[in-house]
Amino acid sequence: MIRHDYSRVDPKRRANIDYKKRQFAKAEFQQQTYEHRLNYYGIPPTAEITLDEFETWAIDRLKVLSELEACSFRNRNPEETAEHMTGILAKYLPLRSNSSRSQNLQDERRKDHYSHFILRLAFSSTEDLRRRFARLETMLFRLRFRNDDLDERKRFVEGLKLDWEEVTEEEKREFKEEMAAASGARKGEVQEWFKVDWERVPELVEQRRVLLKRGMAFVPQREQMSLVVAEFTRRLDDALELTARALPRLDEDDRLAPILAHLSQSFATPDAAYSSSDANIDGLSAPTAASIDTLSQHFPLCMQNLHQALRRDSHLKHYGRLQYSLFLKGIGLSLEECLLFWRRSFKLITDEKFTKEYKYNIRHVYGDVGGDANRRGRGYTPYSCQKILTEPLPGPGQSHGCPYRTFAPDNLLAMLQNTGVNDRDLLKTVREDVGKQRYHVACNRVFDWAHKKEIKKVKDDGSWSAADLDTIVHPNTYFKRGWLLKHLGDGNAGLVGGGDKMEE
Ligand code: SF4
Repeated sequence: MIRHDYSRVDPKRRANIDYKKRQFAKAEFQQQTYEHRLNYYGIPPTAEITLDEFETWAIDRLKVLSELEACSFRNRNPEETAEHMTGILAKYLPLRSNSSRSQNLQDERRKDHYSHFILRLAFSSTEDLRRRFARLETMLFRLRFRNDDLDERKRFVEGLKLDWEEVTEEEKREFKEEMAAASGARKGEVQEWFKVDWERVPELVEQRRVLLKRGMAFVPQREQMSLVVAEFTRRLDDALELTARALPRLDEDDRLAPILAHLSQSFATPDAAYSSSDANIDGLSAPTAASIDTLSQHFPLCMQNLHQALRRDSHLKHYGRLQYSLFLKGIGLSLEECLLFWRRSFKLITDEKFTKEYKYNIRHVYGDVGGDANRRGRGYTPYSCQKILTEPLPGPGQSHGCPYRTFAPDNLLAMLQNTGVNDRDLLKTVREDVGKQRYHVACNRVFDWAHKKEIKKVKDDGSWSAADLDTIVHPNTYFKRGWLLKHLGDGNAGLVGGGDKMEE
C-alpha cells in the first residue's frame, strides 16, 4: 500500500518477491469507499499512500492510543475518558458521521483504516504488545460506538452480519418470566433479545447480565454494545496472531521495517511521571543505608518485593538492582548512602568483587560516571509504573517488575496478606483486577485501603486537594504519599508539590 515514490529496496530483490506476495498485485491500487463511520477492520487497505502518510498517520493514531492508556492508568470512568478524548480525537483522528455532510469523510475514514493496519503491523511482534494494542483499540472502538449516530450505528451493526440467532417465539413463551426478570426493562417496555454461544460473551456472563439456557446466552437488546465490542476484540485478537505469523516476510522491505521498529519503540517507552519533588518529603530526614529497612514498610509492593528478595538472598540481579537503585535515588538516598546500602546488603561477597562488579553501575545510575549526557542529566530517572508494567517479564531468579503482573494470583494474594492486607473483599477484588490486567488499579486499591483512615481525615479537613489524591502512577509517589499520610500528626505541612507532576 506504499506508493513507490522512491525505494531503498534493491531492485533485484524486488524482482524475486515470491508468488504469495504477487497474488496480491491485482488489489494493489484499489481505493475503498467507506460506507460507515465505524470500522471492524476486516479488510486490509490496498490502495497506495506515501511513506510520509504511512508514518504520520501511524504517529497520530499512536497519540490517541497513548492518551486512552493514560486515561485507564488514571482510572478515569467512561464519561471522563470521553470528555478528555474529545479534543484529542478531533485533532489527530477525526471521524465524522454521514449526517455531518463533511467533505472530508472519506479521507478521515481512510486515515483511520490505514493507521489501524500500520499499527497492527508494528505491534503484533510480541504477546505483550498485541494484548496492549488490542485493549486500546477496543477502548477506542467502544468510545466511538457509544458516540455514534443512532441510525448509522444500527446500519453498521446490520452490515456486520454477526451470527446472532433470534430468540424464537416458543422460547420467549417458555422463558417469559426469567427473561422479564433478567431484562431490567420497565413495565410495558418491549425488549428485543438475541442468543449467542455463551463463550462469546464471557464478560456479560460474569456480570450476570444475560440469561443462560441450554449452552446459549440470551442477550437483551440493551447489551448490544457489549456484544459488538466483544466480537470486535475477538476478531482483532485473531487477526493479530495472523499478522505476527506473517511478520518475518516484512523484513524484506527495508523502507518499512525501520518505521515500524520506531513506532513500536515509542509505544513501549512509557511516559516519565517522576517529579523531583518526590524526593523532598516534608518531615522525613534524609534516608540512609541504615533507615531503608524501616522505610520499606511504606514502599509499594514492587519495591517491597525487591527489598525482601535482597534480604533473603543477599543479592539481586541486574534489572532488580537497577529498578531498586533508581527508586532509592528517587526517595532521596544519596550516592554515598546507596553504595553503602548495597555493600552491606551483598554480605556474601568481598569488597574487591563489589568494587569490580557492582560499584560502577550504581554510580552510573546516579550520573557520577558515564558519558556526558548521563552526567549532565545526573543519571537515570526512577521508573514509572507504566515503564515497570510494560517491561519484559522477569526470568528465573529475577525479582524486578510489578508483582501485580508478575506473580501468579495466589502468590500475589499471599504476599499481600504477609504485608497485612487481610480484607477478604479487597483481596477478591484485587484478584479480579489482575485477571483483567488492571494491575495498577489493584495497586491503587490496596493503597487506598491501607491508608483509608488518613485519606478520610485529609479529605474531611480539606488539607489535601483532590489532585494530591489522584491515582498513583509512580512508585515514588506511592512512597511519598504513603509516608506523609502515616505521619500526618508529625507537623507535616501537607503534600507540598506532591501530585503526580510530570517531568521530562
Ligand atoms: Fe509498583 Fe506501580 Fe506495580 Fe504499584 S502498580 S506495585 S507502584 S509498579
